[in-house]
Amino acid sequence: MDVKQLLRDMGFRFNKQFGQNFLTDENLLNNICSDAEVSGGTVLEIGAGAGTLTRVLSKNADKVVAFEIDRNLEKVLAVTLADCQNVKLVIGDVMKYKMPDIEALCGGSYRVVANIPYYLTSPLIMRFVEEANNVTSLTLTVQKEVAERLAASPANKDYGAITVGVQAVADVEIKRILPRELFYPQPNVDSAVVHIAFNRNKFDMSNAALFRKTVRVSFAMRRKTLVNNLAVGFNITKQQAEQILVACDLPLTCRGEELSVPQFVQLYKIIENAKI
Ligand code: SAM
Repeated sequence: MDVKQLLRDMGFRFNKQFGQNFLTDENLLNNICSDAEVSGGTVLEIGAGAGTLTRVLSKNADKVVAFEIDRNLEKVLAVTLADCQNVKLVIGDVMKYKMPDIEALCGGSYRVVANIPYYLTSPLIMRFVEEANNVTSLTLTVQKEVAERLAASPANKDYGAITVGVQAVADVEIKRILPRELFYPQPNVDSAVVHIAFNRNKFDMSNAALFRKTVRVSFAMRRKTLVNNLAVGFNITKQQAEQILVACDLPLTCRGEELSVPQFVQLYKIIENAKI
């Protein structure tokens, strides 16, 4: 099926606000499906677009739940997904759905596979990290810079709060780089497929909210030392913040971005035990 022609024939007008940059290359779509390790099971797709990825997912999964915000794509999807009986299409804004309702539609464990709009990247990832119970992996086509941030190592300029938040509960791997020419219409940036495989037992973190606060506070002012950030973020004295670092065996001059993920877990546990 020539989807570009179909979109033209149906008079479809791309909506920039929704981050509509579609993928049409069949080989690439199959590769993304392999990157996501889809073989049976349920897949949740966010942003079906013209249904190109949805069709490939439909062939490889038992069931696909696909959200699409743009009502104008409904008639296009009616054509492209006409023979995909295992696809449940939801026309609506995924961000307006509560996570338990999204998970109820999936009905058990599921993978997320999506070429997501740029404006949604961080909030969407953090929703699945923080709120989802049954998700096993996220395989996302995102801006290349975002993929590099998610997979970054300590002391790298890309390493930040989102890196630590995700890597604390998942293993992250960049699967492939997608040059901008592969999208229709062509965006101004290159993209990458990043695979986030959840492993929530990686670390013992009973107080996830405190762990997240510890990470957020540690990166709040990148040019300040960790001692300063902890003192401001937790409203404690510099001396108390220094004692926490000593208990973690960390140099008093270090910055948040120098800590590995296990060191952040240790820092959070010491803060928890200090009951500050
Ligand atoms: N999956 C298609 C593909 O790969 O060609 C489309 C990808 S396009 C980058 C992102 C899609 O997400 C667009 O079709 C857009 O309308 C849709 N979208 C944007 N925001 C959304 C939201 N909040 N909820 C559901 N879909 C959304």
